Amino acid sequence: MLEKKIPCSSCGGRGSYDAIGERACSGCAGTGRDYKHSKLMSKPCSKCHGSGRKPCPACYGSGEVHY
Ligand SMILES: [Zn+2]
Ligand SMILES: [Zn+2]
Repeated sequence: MLEKKIPCSSCGGRGSYDAIGERACSGCAGTGRDYKHSKLMSKPCSKCHGSGRKPCPACYGSGEVHY
């Protein structure tokens, strides 16, 4: 079982759509914080991992893909 990780070609390893023109994460509107549960106690957005950017669908925001 050889598992190899390489930088995602869709996002260039960034994990977001930054490089190709998409910007704000739909889950947090680009704030990077999830305010759904409480306005006082926000936590990092689970969709973009706090980056505020739209996660790359090819690597799910990790910036790496497995082969
Ligand atoms: Zn987000
Ligand atoms: Zn990617």
